[in-house]
Amino acid sequence: MNDDEKWMREALREARQCLRNTEAPYSPLTPPPLDSPHSDIRQASSVNRQSNNPQSAIRNPQSDVPVGAVCVWQGEIIGRGHNRREVERDPTAHAEVLALQAAATHLGDWHLTGVMLYVTLEPCVMCAGAIWLARVEQVVFGAWDERAGACGSVFDIVRDPRLNHRPQLRGGVLADECAALLKEFFATQRKPPTTT
Ligand SMILES: [Zn+2]
Repeated sequence: MNDDEKWMREALREARQCLRNTEAPYSPLTPPPLDSPHSDIRQASSVNRQSNNPQSAIRNPQSDVPVGAVCVWQGEIIGRGHNRREVERDPTAHAEVLALQAAATHLGDWHLTGVMLYVTLEPCVMCAGAIWLARVEQVVFGAWDERAGACGSVFDIVRDPRLNHRPQLRGGVLADECAALLKEFFATQRKPPTTT
């Protein structure tokens, strides 16, 4: 397993946190448990209280889309994040933004020079902008987002020659695993479309 796959697996671990139907305290530097029993996880909050069955957490309509990210600097993870839009009720709480914030806090600097960002899904416009602004060294993503991706699919923000900083970019690392997690999520979340 090369380093890109190694770190992408960490991002996948982070993404799976979205399916745990929990509002456990956010810990940007602590790895999520691999197989912690649900009893170790806080009770669902009022946001997610409609399901008391741990097995049905993935079907909870309030669950966040499972996207995870880690920031790596000098061979260690200095920031983690997973999508928390629903939990935080915050449209900007994407995995990448949270991981970048944690990395900046760790380094004490918003310039994330030398930092590599690994994320399970191609970054959106907002996150691509944040990646550029943070001067991230390299972006590695898993699944392509052909509907909203901003790293080559729909937009190509991070490689726009008009920008004063362009991170290195690699897409498709563990793409099948990253995409499978999303497919499973949407298969259990989406209701049939209504016609009324
Ligand atoms: Zn985003």
